[in-house]
Amino acid sequence: MDNNPNKQASEKTNEGQNQRPNNSNRQGNPNRRPNPHRSNTTAEQGTNNTQTNNTQASNPQTTNTRDTNRKPNPNRKPQPNRNYNNANDKKDTQSPQNNRRPNPNQKKPNPNQKKPNNQNKGGGKGRKKNAPTNVSDEMKASILKNKEIQEARMNPWKQIDIASKGRVRFTPLGGLGEIGGNIAVLETETTAIIIDVGMSFPDESMHGVDILVPDFSYLQAIKEKIQAIVITHAHEDHIGAVPYLFKELKFPIYGTPLALAMIENKFNEHGLQKDTSYFRFVSKREQYTIGDFKVEWMHMTHSIIDACSLAIETPAGTLVHTGDFKIDHTPIDGYTADLQRFAHYGAKGVLCLFSDSTNSYKPGFTKSEAVVGNTFDTLYMLAKGRMIMSTFSSNVHRIYQAMDRGIKHGRKICVIGRSMERNVEVTRALGYVDIPDKYFIEPHEINKYADHEVLIVTTGSQGEDMAALFRMATNEHRHIKLKPSDTIIISAKAIPGNEGSVSRMMNHIVKTGATVRYQDFADIHVSGHAAQEEQKLILRLVQPKFFLPVHGEYNHIAQHAKTAVKCGVNERNILLMSDGDQVEITPKYLKKVKTVKTGKTFIDNQNNREIHDDVIIDRQKLASDGIVNVMLQISKQTHKMISKPVVTIHGVIPEKQTRKFTEEITVMIENFLINAKPDQVISAKTVENEVRLMVRKHVIRTKKLYPIIIPTIFYV
Ligand SMILES: [Zn+2]
Repeated sequence: MDNNPNKQASEKTNEGQNQRPNNSNRQGNPNRRPNPHRSNTTAEQGTNNTQTNNTQASNPQTTNTRDTNRKPNPNRKPQPNRNYNNANDKKDTQSPQNNRRPNPNQKKPNPNQKKPNNQNKGGGKGRKKNAPTNVSDEMKASILKNKEIQEARMNPWKQIDIASKGRVRFTPLGGLGEIGGNIAVLETETTAIIIDVGMSFPDESMHGVDILVPDFSYLQAIKEKIQAIVITHAHEDHIGAVPYLFKELKFPIYGTPLALAMIENKFNEHGLQKDTSYFRFVSKREQYTIGDFKVEWMHMTHSIIDACSLAIETPAGTLVHTGDFKIDHTPIDGYTADLQRFAHYGAKGVLCLFSDSTNSYKPGFTKSEAVVGNTFDTLYMLAKGRMIMSTFSSNVHRIYQAMDRGIKHGRKICVIGRSMERNVEVTRALGYVDIPDKYFIEPHEINKYADHEVLIVTTGSQGEDMAALFRMATNEHRHIKLKPSDTIIISAKAIPGNEGSVSRMMNHIVKTGATVRYQDFADIHVSGHAAQEEQKLILRLVQPKFFLPVHGEYNHIAQHAKTAVKCGVNERNILLMSDGDQVEITPKYLKKVKTVKTGKTFIDNQNNREIHDDVIIDRQKLASDGIVNVMLQISKQTHKMISKPVVTIHGVIPEKQTRKFTEEITVMIENFLINAKPDQVISAKTVENEVRLMVRKHVIRTKKLYPIIIPTIFYV
């Protein structure tokens, strides 16, 4: 472990950051801006030394001379003036203030830089022989002081006590290397907290599996020190597995009201009503002491209301976990992300940032949820008949916007679909959605209204074949049958893996003649996850020493790491983790220390029960290679077949080949029984084993298949 690269890395960090022209060393030089002055001063150089010095000290061009020593700065285009323009510049390069580290802010104001340079070009040409700039001691001192201030500001984590013996361990048990299923453990020697307990969805090979729940064996192993479950927000991939955990282990659950209300619904379905006594409702901007940790929930914008990021003070230093997030400056409820708290912790020094990587490839900003409302307006205006809007049932603001605009366009609202009905009910009860009862109608009342007076809000935006929209599209819904005048809005994007089912559902809808509004319509859906510029904003506000990109597949977190490097995090202070990796974080280092057991438990939603692994393996075998049954009676005395074996085969050969196949098996068994050694036929069991082997070899040889083989032998 001593030669752990991460450790070395982190120790080097301090040096490294002092040596290399790191962006983070300095800051926006306000003097820089008034570039126009620059040319003026240049012009005055001969007459007013002080002023000239001033300008040059703060002059982008002065520092520009040092560009050769720097990492290439693509933004610094307007260099030409520098090199051949002004003899003074060259001298300036040697002057002490020019040994300053490059100013990171120079990068930004490129557009501004161009102008002054151009101006300078004109102004400077005739003044090549100007006297060298004098730099007063006062000036030098001021420059030095500002430099120090900027360095401290850009590396606030340096305030963390490096000598501290505090250490924490972080272990994601789900959510890395996959989308969804988020669960992680944060622990010290004596305290552990679980951050989110999410579920994920199966792939097509997991026959009959509805949801996947994380393997809790590591939690079992450390249960003595687990003091809390800490919930960031109410999405299924963050709370969906809580009831399954509670059937094994129970701990206090800390969360905001909506998250706990959603968990309560689940507890009701699972017969865990009494366990609501474990709920601990949190207030944002307050710290909760949980063992060795102090946890604060910071309000965050996302595609569900009441979402939070976490600031966790630990013996090693402060950790910030974004949870799922986007930075929406115009959220529907007006509550923007609590960036002030991020800045607050950032300024005090954050040891490690954990941040959502879902959209790390997306450049720019994720659009505000508000834009979807405008799209709804347009679509309502275009629609002649009924409007059917489908989205994720948890996206309450989306649902609210559809309803609110619908009402303005004179429509009554009918909510259809179990999870949608439940979520609308809960959020109305909690006061998050304020729409009077009079606007709601029941499914059986729809026909009492003209088509243009109806808005149906429903589930099934992922093409789920059990959901309401799919059943409407396939004419299986009790109350709603699609008709050509209907407009269906799918205000969602297919989650990776669901594209096929969404497309299949679209086919059904289009066949009914109805109009579908999906991704071809701009701003019909916006993501709930941060794009690169928002990820950068968080990185800059927090400016952590260490960075762990979380929530995403490997390529997503790797991309997020690149963004972090651009934002001043030392590349060596970033780790790309997989589920089960346990990292130790101390003020000195971040390193992987071990791997713990992780995995998924398969759940059948019909009964909320586990499906064991071997069942799934059997189902996979059945689906891909079929099954062969061989039933046979053998005489105890003679060890001969009493009658021909009964062979039933499914999924291996066509029906018409069954007879031939049975004959082949029969001959094989007859030969076997004639030549068998006594111990091979000592019992029905031993014969079954032999028959299984024979049939298996035969099928592999002739069909290249590995079916399930079930011999049943009776000794009579
Ligand atoms: Zn989420």
